[in-house]
Amino acid sequence: MLEIWNPSTGQRIQKVDDDTPATIAAKYKLARQAQVKWAIKPLEERLEAIRAFRALIVKRAENLAQTLTLEVGKPITQSRREIAAVLTRIDYFLAESPRVLADETVYEDSTMSEIVAREPLGVIANISAWNYPYFVGSNVFVVALIAGNAVLYKPSEFATLTGLHIAQMMSEVGAPFFPIIGAGSAGAALLEQPIDGVFFTGSFATGQKIAEVASRRMIHVQLELGGKDPVYVTDDVDVEKAAESLADGAFYNAGQSCCSVERIYVHERVYDAFVERFVREVNGFALGDPLDDKTYIGPLARRAQVGVLETQVADAKAKGARVLTGGARIAREGNWFAPTVLVDVNHSMSVMRDESFGPVIGIQRVRDDAEASRLMNDSEFALTAGVYSRDESRARALLRNARAGSAYWNCCDRVSPRLPWSGRGHSGLGVTLGRDGLLAFTQPKAYHLRSG
Ligand code: NAD
Repeated sequence: MLEIWNPSTGQRIQKVDDDTPATIAAKYKLARQAQVKWAIKPLEERLEAIRAFRALIVKRAENLAQTLTLEVGKPITQSRREIAAVLTRIDYFLAESPRVLADETVYEDSTMSEIVAREPLGVIANISAWNYPYFVGSNVFVVALIAGNAVLYKPSEFATLTGLHIAQMMSEVGAPFFPIIGAGSAGAALLEQPIDGVFFTGSFATGQKIAEVASRRMIHVQLELGGKDPVYVTDDVDVEKAAESLADGAFYNAGQSCCSVERIYVHERVYDAFVERFVREVNGFALGDPLDDKTYIGPLARRAQVGVLETQVADAKAKGARVLTGGARIAREGNWFAPTVLVDVNHSMSVMRDESFGPVIGIQRVRDDAEASRLMNDSEFALTAGVYSRDESRARALLRNARAGSAYWNCCDRVSPRLPWSGRGHSGLGVTLGRDGLLAFTQPKAYHLRSG
C-alpha cells in the first residue's frame, strides 16, 4: 500500500494499492497489445480521443485542482492555472501534429522517391515528477499517444491521486494509457519490462540511474532534470519591475519549478535598490493554507526538502552569507519553510551551486557583465538563463553566451508549447514541446521507392 500525505497538515489522506512487479508485467502486456491497435488507427481518430480527454479536463477542472492542491500543497489558484494552461498546450499538439507527423518527400525524380515516415516508438514508460503533473506529464503522454505509442505512466508517489485522475480520463477516452502506482521501486520495476523508450522528469540523481538502465537495455531515453537557473540584472533596469518579476519567478509554487529562478546576480550600481525592493516583495507574499484563494506560498511537497534547505542556509551562513528574511522552517504541522533571501553569497556555497527546489534565493553582487556571464555559466545545470536589461543587444549578447536550453530577456520561469524545452549538462537530454518535442516520440523510417 502507498500512503498519500497532505504536505500542508502532515496528515495522511488515504492509502492506495501500489503495483507489484507482477501487476506491472501484466500492464505491460496489455499496453503492448493495445499499442498495435492504436497505432493503426488514422491520426484523426487518435486526435479525437485527445480532444475528448481535453473536454474531460474542462469538465472536472475544479475537482482536479483541489486534488492537486491537497496532495502536493500547490496553492489552489496555481493549481487552477496549471490545469487551465495545459489546455493551451493540448491545443498546440492537436493543431501541429498532423503537419509534423506527415510523411515528407525529400527527393523525387521520374523513377525514384525518397520519403521519410514517422513511426511510433512502441510502448514507452513515462516516469514523472510531482511539481507540475499536468504540464510535464502532458508534454510526454499526450504527444506520445498522438504519435501512436502506448504509455505506461508512473506518476510521482507525491502526485498519485492526480495520476489516477489522469488515468481515469484516459481510460474513458479509450487511449492505451496504463498507470503504474508506487514509489521509486515501481519505476525501477517498470524499466525491467521490454519497453521501447523511457521519458523521465525528475532529479539528476534518479536521471542518472534511469540512463544507466536505458543504456544497458539500448532503448530510447529522454531526461528532463533539475536546474540552477541564473538571472542577471544589469545596471540599466527598472529596478521595481525587475524585482517584482524575479520575486515571482523565484517563489511561485514555493520555488518548486525546474525553471524557478535559483540564483540572481545584480550589477553593483543597482544592487542595493534591487535587494531592498526584492525583499519588500517577498515579505508581501501571503503564506498559508494552500486551499485558500489568497495564498501565494504553500508548503513544500516533500518533507525531506525542508532539511535540504536548512542545510543550504546553514552552509551559506557559515561561509558569510546574511539572511535578510526567512532562513528557517516554520513551526507548524506539515512541510513549511519560510521564504528566504540570502545576500553576501558566493559560489563556494551550496545555495549558489546545488538545486534548492524551494523558497530560498541567493542574490550576488557583480562588477560587470563579464563577471555575471562567468558566474551564470559556473554550474553543472544548464536549463534556463535570463537577463534583465533595457538594452536588447546587450541582453542578446549575454544570452548567446549562456549555457542553457532556454534564454529569457526581461522574463523568467516561462515555458511555451511552441518552443523546444531542453536542458544541457546535468539538466538532461532530449526535447519536449515545439516541433522537436513532437518528433521525439517517433522514429524515422526512410523509404527508397523505385517505380519500375
Ligand atoms: P525524483 O527524481 O525524486 O523522482 C522522479 C520520479 O522518478 C518519481 O516518479 C519517482 O518515483 C521515480 N523514481 C525514483 N527512483 C527511481 C528509480 N530508481 N527508477 C525509476 N524511477 C524512479 O524527482 P522529483 O522530486 O519527483 O522531482 C523534482 C525534480 O524534477 C527536480 O530536480 C526538478 O528540477 C525536476 N524537474 C525537471 C523538469 C524539466 O522539465 N527539466 C520539470 C519538472 C521537474
